[in-house]
Amino acid sequence: MLTIQQLHKSYTTPTGATDAIRDISFTLNEGEFLSIVGPSGAGKSTLLRAIIGLERATGGEVLYQGSPVRTPQADFSVVFQDYRRSLYGWLTLEGNITLPLRHRLRDRAKRHEIATTLLARVGLAGMGLRYPGQLSGGQQQRVAIARALACQPRLLVMDEPFASVDAQTRFELEDLILKLKQESGVTTILVTHDIDEATYMSDRVLVLSRAPAIVIDEVNVSLPHPRDQMTTRGLPEFARIRSRLLAKLLTTRTETRSIPIHSGVK
Ligand code: ADP
Ligand code: MG
Repeated sequence: MLTIQQLHKSYTTPTGATDAIRDISFTLNEGEFLSIVGPSGAGKSTLLRAIIGLERATGGEVLYQGSPVRTPQADFSVVFQDYRRSLYGWLTLEGNITLPLRHRLRDRAKRHEIATTLLARVGLAGMGLRYPGQLSGGQQQRVAIARALACQPRLLVMDEPFASVDAQTRFELEDLILKLKQESGVTTILVTHDIDEATYMSDRVLVLSRAPAIVIDEVNVSLPHPRDQMTTRGLPEFARIRSRLLAKLLTTRTETRSIPIHSGVK
């Protein structure tokens, strides 16, 4: 579905050019849940912005169904870490959720129906007329997730979406995303610095080195579905994968070449 080919990105700063991404290649399969982990400053957000067409790479290419991605795509939706900046405080929850539909769907009643259904799916039934400022952080992120799903995206991309909420809320949001993923089958990329989260959520995990980023490991996660915070995290397979990811992250400085990624899961 998505092919990342030898992606390279350097930023021009007052002190010269710095490489954020050295060379990244991988493919994403339809319906897959892929996590990308890496230390802070590795180049994860840079990679994500290039994937969704928000920022041009300085080398290589992103192909979506065979065509280069150079501008934001109608088929892609994004959830960012900071819900405070991603929701509009002067719009109701329903207004926020239906915003991306304004131009695509003229029928107001239909838009209202979609918002009502989505609010229920993210656990905020009946709250459409509230404003973001009247919600907790976790609830606001639920609204951002509902908005991302409003256009029925083919690809859902999330950049550290749970990094600004408390641990309990984080578990709840992880399970919400897994439930929504199960229901819609949407292909998903999750960027996170949290290896436990990556292991718990994914079908496959890519590990990035420190900047300038390369891919230093790829792990298929064959933990059974549906996943459960208590049971899944207690499985020997979970422990094995997280140890491997941790070991990779701790030794990231020693790697110099990207590993070849041939295919995804199965
Ligand atoms: P991560 O999301 O993994 O924490 P980023 O992609 O945000 O990492 O950043 C990777 C590297 O690129 C960092 O060294 C960062 O300082 C640099 N960088 C990111 N955005 C810019 C920018 N707009 N201009 C210059 N340097 C940037
Ligand atoms: Mg980031």
